Amino acid sequence: MIRPFTYQALPMRVVFGPGSLASLPDEVAALGLTRVLVLCSPEQEVTGKQVADALGDRAAGVLPEARMHVPVEVARRARDMARGLGADGCVAVGGGSAVGLGKAIALEHGLPVIAVPTTYAGSEMTPVWGLTEGGAKRTGRDIRVLPKSVLYDPALTLTLPAGLSATSGMNAIAHAVEGLYAPDATPIVSLMAEEGTRALAAALPRVVADGSDLEARGEAQYGAWLCGAVLAATTMSLHHKLCHTLGGTLDLPHAQTHTVVLPHALAYNQPAAPEAVTALSRALGGADDPARALWELAGRLGAPRSLAELGMQEDDIPRIAELAVANPYANPRPVTRGGVEVLLRTAWAGDAPA
Ligand code: NAD
Repeated sequence: MIRPFTYQALPMRVVFGPGSLASLPDEVAALGLTRVLVLCSPEQEVTGKQVADALGDRAAGVLPEARMHVPVEVARRARDMARGLGADGCVAVGGGSAVGLGKAIALEHGLPVIAVPTTYAGSEMTPVWGLTEGGAKRTGRDIRVLPKSVLYDPALTLTLPAGLSATSGMNAIAHAVEGLYAPDATPIVSLMAEEGTRALAAALPRVVADGSDLEARGEAQYGAWLCGAVLAATTMSLHHKLCHTLGGTLDLPHAQTHTVVLPHALAYNQPAAPEAVTALSRALGGADDPARALWELAGRLGAPRSLAELGMQEDDIPRIAELAVANPYANPRPVTRGGVEVLLRTAWAGDAPA
């Protein structure tokens, strides 16, 4: 029987396909924008400049300073620059860091953001912002930061290295996994989660084998879009809480941490989430044990599978377990300190999920 649910669609516009970057000037014009600030990370400055060139006199400037977790001083500089240039919008080109910087400007100045994602992180689909100050990250939800238009051009992902393609793709699958057993899961979102997982699990081995395979890149980005939409629509649980704690406390890298933790968090929750297991099993080619299948997928992709190789010390396990259970949150299976500690020990060692 279908359980009662509430579903709130977000006002998102998506332009998808190889070469779709060419329609960026039309997207900017359709929003009535005349002077947009282009945001990207330092490593993608060349791409940022290409985008600005394509926009001609609708581009007010390029700020190539986006960094992981949006440090507040970078956000301040970006806000000052946007104000100084008289920008009336932003185009964020890149991964979650560039999109996050656009959101930080939108949060304070209300400037509309157009996102051109080049990883699979999914931030472009969500109204969630984050800002880091003095080592502490604050996050919140505000509809003003949701990009007005998202342009997915798989050609822009051809340069994403194999390692980051693999881990960023697993990061996206993590949104789908937790969306499937979320307290606010709904039938339409579960469809997106299953299809997003299927598309990414099928595409990632091809992407890693040949980064220039545009068709595989397109399928991976399609999956990432769906998984990002799931992240926006549902409340995340144990897996995201653990990754947030590991990233915030030990400064472990975002996508890699998600990749290592996901099979173990899913294994923990599987006994209490039979419908999610059924959907994931279908998405992963009929796998009996989706957690094990994701661990094997990470192995096939050559992605990290242990927290030790990400630089975590074994001594840190009790502290992280303590923090991860400090505040209650929704999870299909009760979260116990002992259970989390066992999970973390297995993930730290890189053993198969138990
Ligand atoms: P990222 O944006 O930091 O990118 C990682 C690196 O990859 C950067 O150096 C970037 O320049 C490079 N890169 C990106 N695309 C490339 C490409 N196509 N070719 C070559 N290099 C490329 O990493 P991310 O994993 O995309 O995002 C992580 C951040 O996003 C975290 O801070 C996370 O908290 C945030 N995030 C937020 C949300 C949300 O809803 N607010 C959702 C997901 C992630």
